[in-house]
Amino acid sequence: MSLLTENPAETSIQTITIFPSKAEQKEVFEFNKLEKRLTKQVGQAIADFNMIEDGDKVMVCVSGGKDSYGLLDILLLLRQRAPINFDIIAVNLDQKQPGFPEEVLPNYLRSINVPFHIEEQDTYSIVKRVIPEGKTTCSLCSRLRRGILYRVASELGATKVALGHHKDDILQTLLLNLFYGGRIKGMPPKLVSDNGEHTVIRPLAYCRERDLARYAEEKNFPIIPCNLCGSQENLKRKEMAALLKQWEKHNPRWIANLFTSLSTVVPSHLMDRKLFPFETIRPGAVLEDGAGDKAFDSDDEC
Ligand code: SF4
Repeated sequence: MSLLTENPAETSIQTITIFPSKAEQKEVFEFNKLEKRLTKQVGQAIADFNMIEDGDKVMVCVSGGKDSYGLLDILLLLRQRAPINFDIIAVNLDQKQPGFPEEVLPNYLRSINVPFHIEEQDTYSIVKRVIPEGKTTCSLCSRLRRGILYRVASELGATKVALGHHKDDILQTLLLNLFYGGRIKGMPPKLVSDNGEHTVIRPLAYCRERDLARYAEEKNFPIIPCNLCGSQENLKRKEMAALLKQWEKHNPRWIANLFTSLSTVVPSHLMDRKLFPFETIRPGAVLEDGAGDKAFDSDDEC
């Protein structure tokens, strides 16, 4: 860094060089590390699940929360280095919640020169009218939002719809389904929408929420609070988040392994008869690697 100053005594111009302090250097180093980690994880998820292809038009759903800002930012970074060409359009659904600062997102998106579309739909009034006072409104609200976003994706000619769900969301969903739904079901990184028309992708699937929170802080994203609707927070999801935090404190490997287990499923060692033909297995059958049973698994070899 250099500043030009005039020295009146010598009437000449001196160059003063200001070096960043150790603390500043460390801050820059840490931020670069974080950005590298996030872009690597997003790139890996995109590659593993073939999320984005040459010629795609990716509609990035931006709510004004830290995760979707991070998603947009990292996709823009990756696009600069990608060997393929794809377009990005940011879309925000203004649900007409009281106090929604409607200029914040357009101003930000203009400032970073990203094409965007703001869809104004008063789902807030519908939800308030339909759901009795005191009942949770999130499920109707998100169903309405999903329908609108799919329609907008069609109108914009988007080939992919990108959502900002991350690794912690995926793990929480898995536990919610296990403990409250009695099923082993997570939140897929890539899926076809329920109307069969859209491909939905979650490029943040490998990213931790704490990293995205730090990234948002460092990048100074203009966060819009997510409690404008006045709805109660999803208490069951909060409960799962607390459980995961507790487990992680006890042993960080548990969380890493829980996540890995989602991509290492052995149907023959579960009990779903739709996934494995238990009725017809006979001795001598050739089983896929890992599907056979050693019958007496040792304690350390589960
Ligand atoms: S918190 Fe509010 S805006 Fe978000 S899904 Fe629930 S009702 Fe909708």
